[in-house]
Amino acid sequence: ELAIRMAERGADLVKALFKMGMPVTVNQSIDQDTAELLVTEFGHNIKRVSESDVDIQTDHDVDAPETLKPRPPVVTIMGHVDHGKTSLLDAIRGANVVSGEAGGITQHIGAYQVTLPSKDKITFLDTPGHEAFTEMRARGANVTDIVILVVAADDGLRPQTIEAINHTKAAGVPMIVAINKIDKSGANPQKVREELLQHEIVVEEMGGEVQDVEVSALKKTNLDKLLEAISLQAEILELKANPDRAAEGAVVEAKLDKGRGPLATVLVQRGTLKVGDIFVAGPISGKVRAMIDDHGRQVKEAGPSFPVEVLGLSGVPSAGDTLTVVENEARAREVAAYRQGVIDRKRTTSAPASFDTMFSALKEKQAVEFPLVIKGDVQGSVEAIVNAVNKISNEDIRARVLHAGVGGITESDVILAGASGAPIIGFNVRANAKAREIAERQGVAMQYYDVIYDLTDAVKSAMAGKIGPLI
Ligand code: GDP
Repeated sequence: ELAIRMAERGADLVKALFKMGMPVTVNQSIDQDTAELLVTEFGHNIKRVSESDVDIQTDHDVDAPETLKPRPPVVTIMGHVDHGKTSLLDAIRGANVVSGEAGGITQHIGAYQVTLPSKDKITFLDTPGHEAFTEMRARGANVTDIVILVVAADDGLRPQTIEAINHTKAAGVPMIVAINKIDKSGANPQKVREELLQHEIVVEEMGGEVQDVEVSALKKTNLDKLLEAISLQAEILELKANPDRAAEGAVVEAKLDKGRGPLATVLVQRGTLKVGDIFVAGPISGKVRAMIDDHGRQVKEAGPSFPVEVLGLSGVPSAGDTLTVVENEARAREVAAYRQGVIDRKRTTSAPASFDTMFSALKEKQAVEFPLVIKGDVQGSVEAIVNAVNKISNEDIRARVLHAGVGGITESDVILAGASGAPIIGFNVRANAKAREIAERQGVAMQYYDVIYDLTDAVKSAMAGKIGPLI
């Protein structure tokens, strides 16, 4: 990259570095001082560019209001295991195909779109669950406009239902409750509504604002009502995007296909993605060779909220990476290489995060809330801790418990904490190996306590240390 910039041969740079006592390969990253020395050595002038000059700056407000056109909502389904997320996704998709969407076989690309009788469209993400949702958010991709919370009417609220509620709340995404399995003899939808109240979700039936629909994914009952509820919610949200610009989207799924090479399913968020477009997706560059929709049909263009499988990547990006169309291949390569460098550096220099470092990051963002995730060994102590922590506040900032639960610290807790910049507090519980590994990678602080007073004291001092005394 540096050689290209100086219009020199890569091999000559490698040779010069060898002479300077640095045996490197042509693809290796070198530090800034070495790069500067090398540039001077070759008789070129150094111009320091800031990070913002290299990477792409996305300004989400850049599109003028008059360029914005309505776009379909993007929906994620969440809920406890076995409550019917997959069945519901399949039922909605199946019903729609029968109702006359012409041609093509269904193709599982990670997202699909349905068309309502009113001709309105809805995009569903095919990977249900709050882990995928929050992991995407952690990577900066807020693709979901509406969450469908599935609760089985014969089972009620379960631990993952509550996690899903908390993950949705932390993201600030509106929710629709689908009370599923109403065909079963033990179904008790009213009990579900009452249980939801305990988590501050007041559904319409109970005089609140959250829409609730009784469905049966198995018998395909009331699917139309659920779709109508989504349409209504989408109308309230007034979702819009500018379709007439270079495309930007989110990778929702990516894999290496034996025959076709790296594939990524991209949900276009603004602009229109076209065959031939040159892009970067995270640290991967590419050129759109072909695009395939959820019916297995080749498409030439994909506009906002439209999911397509993209062929023509140089590698496999991660779900949640942003895809951005750029002007030419040199630019795509430059940005991709820069981002890969950032990832490599992070890998070697990551230090364990602490309350204080996480708090400083919040301070920089001028946050008014100090988010926390709390896990404890018994319900009683979790409640006591939540109460105590909620009381810690002053004029500038207050503690906000995103999620509290009984049991060890899991992957899901860490992903939620990471996406929200929150530390995790373990009270008489520890994190499992997988959770520890992710926390280290994402810089999530975890602190363990066995005395409630010590715990509140630590939260207080983390907050007070930066903003003065607490009330
Ligand atoms: P997921 O884990 O949330 O994706 O749940 P699945 O969609 O795999 O469903 C779990 C089980 O519940 C399966 O055996 C489904 O057939 C069954 N199921 C899903 N929806 C319904 C429903 O509306 N009625 C009944 N009776 N069973 C259902």
